[in-house]
Amino acid sequence: MTKKRTCPLAGRCGGCDYIGMRYEDELLEKYLEEEQFLSRFCSVSPILPSPEITGYRCKVQAVCGTEDGRLVTGIYRKGSHRLIPVRSCPLEDKRAGKILQTIRTLAGRYHIVSYDEDRKTGHLRHVLIRTSEYYDEALVVLVGSSFDLPSASDLAAALHQKHPYVRSVSIIVNTEKTSMVIPDDAEERVIYGKGYIMDRILGLDFRISARSFYQVNPRQAANLYTIAMNMAELNEHDTVIDAYSGTGTIALIAAASGAGRVIGVEANERAVSDAWENARINNLGNVSFERADASKWMKERAKEGMECSVLFLDPPRSGATEEFLAAAGRMNPERIIYISCNPETLGRDLRYIYRFMPYKAVGIQPVDLFPASRHIETVVLLERRGRSRVNGR
Ligand code: SAH
Repeated sequence: MTKKRTCPLAGRCGGCDYIGMRYEDELLEKYLEEEQFLSRFCSVSPILPSPEITGYRCKVQAVCGTEDGRLVTGIYRKGSHRLIPVRSCPLEDKRAGKILQTIRTLAGRYHIVSYDEDRKTGHLRHVLIRTSEYYDEALVVLVGSSFDLPSASDLAAALHQKHPYVRSVSIIVNTEKTSMVIPDDAEERVIYGKGYIMDRILGLDFRISARSFYQVNPRQAANLYTIAMNMAELNEHDTVIDAYSGTGTIALIAAASGAGRVIGVEANERAVSDAWENARINNLGNVSFERADASKWMKERAKEGMECSVLFLDPPRSGATEEFLAAAGRMNPERIIYISCNPETLGRDLRYIYRFMPYKAVGIQPVDLFPASRHIETVVLLERRGRSRVNGR
């Protein structure tokens, strides 16, 4: 039995839903939600708990403000624009907390003042920190009102000196009235290092830059991908599609796990170029990436008669579209592995699949990627009904 987790800010910052609970109780809540939306399709396996329930977050976006003349960093209270200063967050990688503390301490010396949105004065708006689980590396992005952040390169050098794992520091300008920390078109200037760090999952290296999509709990993400690959049982005859492929994690792991040919489909241009770069770094020649809306791409390829043997899909919270699912059915995969971050839209999509497509769920495995938050990830294996296996299986 684990102890109740505590945080001095519990109930104030609003970032965690389950911080005052025992982890077993949190898992039970999450399991009940899974059952509510999914048990009508197939029995739901017990949730795979996260290997770490604190300190797992490898991406931290701190909001900057000023209190009693000093720089503070923290989080906007849920649903508001009120900054709650955070000295240390139990969910975040400890290295990120140490870097933030150094920035707060050094701010006075380097004349770094937080940005005031109303008066349009000051500089620093957010600090984004990403850490590598496998390598001892961290990336720091100072999001501010201009590139003329006073003494920015001195600050960067001081950060690296105090924390040798700080391998990259850059500045991104954001003066827009937006809740987005980094707007899509914002320019980035690297002032220390290369602008990216590396992480390794299941023996493959991934490049992580300021904007790359990357799971925030990489150790548990490795378990999630392992479950998905075990369900897929890939062999060299397989043609695999990884829809909503992000920076290509699943496609690349599939390509390295014995699949014949893998195609990733992703709408975000930057994610697609990161995916190609990751394929190059890992010397994988049997994988390619298409920048496209997944539904349109699937529909067009299905119309041309393209088939695939295994389909992975890992859509955003809104789930897949009916157009996507209908096209997926026409491509005739033997197996569909649906990875979802929202049991409700997953349930909706399974209902569509059961009504209109010859597939049935044979395994539902929830994976807890986000301890203390309400979110839960689910992997579902769907098999085609009543057809003999093809592709030499
Ligand atoms: N499979 C990846 C990331 C999945 S996150 C991983 O495990 O790391 C979902 C991805 O879907 C995001 O990268 C997002 O940019 C992409 N996306 C959202 N809408 C899309 C659409 N209509 N077509 C294609 N990709 C889309």
